[in-house]
Amino acid sequence: MNPDAQSLDTDPPILSELGIHRLPVPVPFKNAGGPVNVHLIDNADGSLTLFDAGLGSNEAQEAIRDGFRRLGRNFSEVRDVIISHGHVDHYGAAWMFAEAGAKVWVHPLDEKKVTAHGRWTDRDAEVYGPYLRKLGLTDEQLITMRASAGSTDRFARPVDRVELLKDGQEFRFHHFVGEILHMPGHTPGLVCMYDRGHRILFADDHVLARVSPNPLLELGPNGEADKFRALCTYFESARKARDLDADWVLPGHGPPFQDHRQTIDNLFGFYARRQEKLLAALKEGPKTAAELLPALFARPRFGEMYLMLSEVVGNLEVLEDSGKVAKNDEGGVYHYRLG
Ligand SMILES: [Zn+2]
Ligand SMILES: [Zn+2]
Repeated sequence: MNPDAQSLDTDPPILSELGIHRLPVPVPFKNAGGPVNVHLIDNADGSLTLFDAGLGSNEAQEAIRDGFRRLGRNFSEVRDVIISHGHVDHYGAAWMFAEAGAKVWVHPLDEKKVTAHGRWTDRDAEVYGPYLRKLGLTDEQLITMRASAGSTDRFARPVDRVELLKDGQEFRFHHFVGEILHMPGHTPGLVCMYDRGHRILFADDHVLARVSPNPLLELGPNGEADKFRALCTYFESARKARDLDADWVLPGHGPPFQDHRQTIDNLFGFYARRQEKLLAALKEGPKTAAELLPALFARPRFGEMYLMLSEVVGNLEVLEDSGKVAKNDEGGVYHYRLG
């Protein structure tokens, strides 16, 4: 028996009582935390709402079709698809349901990720290039980084028309009411869905049992660096999630889990240790974000440079907020020093 099938058997009975069916879909990214979950939810009129659509790779499409067959359901029965956030593993297959007539919902701050093609277009390079130079990357490193970034087009097809989600919006399903909660951080437009009555939190990638949520650097539409301070914003949303009463968390990857407060506290501890390491490295003197990579990563790899820089800068921004670190712009490059 494969591990996914096994985890389905052990899903808590409350899920099927509430008309929630979890369909794990394989993803090829090793840092994702396992297969991505598509949740099928029963509506009163016999139709379905999906919370996340899964990846759009050929293998993933096959898994989704298989899953629907196993459940005896059709794509044409899907009325709404709620996209938790604009990452390919969560929206990549949404087009299949849109083609069959479903409405696709996404938060306005992640709308463009879902409706436009992959990330590292020439325009992105124009916007991000100057910022990455400010973080201390050389032109040569930038070229290597761009070459290794690749395109996400084979994992997702854009959706032409979306409906926009609002914080606090409610979806009425057959057995429960789901409240949309805007929880920015992992991405600016990430939402969770909360069933207050049954204390169930659809947490997607906001709270995961096994991996940290890796909030990524994201600039404003005109390249503004301070518009979205990913990790600072994430911490705020993580505190909001911690305050919710939840008996079960249904994550974006992996089986349902309990005790989300412990999970979130562990995560805060993890980041506190990362920040200690950065402070220790800065005792040697001011450094650029690129120069601080070895403080957190034993062997920085170019393919994951963006992810790694995001983690360094995210933690530096948290330290800046608490006054422990300050930065100077010296000749167009940020130098971080102890505050
Ligand atoms: Zn994600
Ligand atoms: Zn994910």
